[in-house]
Amino acid sequence: LNKQRFLQHVDIQRNGCWHWTAARRGSPYGQAKHEGRVWYAHRLAYALFKGDIAPGLKVLHGCDNPICVNPEHLELGTQSDNIQQCAARGHLVDNTGEKHGMARLTAYRVLQIRESSRGNREEAVIHDVSEATIRAIRKRKLWKHL
Ligand SMILES: [Zn+2]
Repeated sequence: LNKQRFLQHVDIQRNGCWHWTAARRGSPYGQAKHEGRVWYAHRLAYALFKGDIAPGLKVLHGCDNPICVNPEHLELGTQSDNIQQCAARGHLVDNTGEKHGMARLTAYRVLQIRESSRGNREEAVIHDVSEATIRAIRKRKLWKHL
């Protein structure tokens, strides 16, 4: 899998999470094949978009959503970080920043918009930007470097 192929299995949620739509096989985490191995989809997302995962480290979800593979929601930590985070967070997940339109577009989202077969209006709603912005991204008037 490369970034483009990976994004074909991603469904962007209004709260900014990327839901993995391919295999889960009964696990709370998504799974993906990459270079002959089965990976957890969120670990693969981290490896593809952010870089190597040092041995022994876990890829943790800042958004507390196990099926999410948005690299921006992922961070490295140890198993004890993981336990502490889960305990501290409980049910008080706060991703209001992304929910209420303060989210800015990122390189990942721009690639996703260009890959998507959805219409401009639908993408605009999903990303909380104007249709003109989506059109400009698709015509490469915006984010030309990608
Ligand atoms: Zn997320």
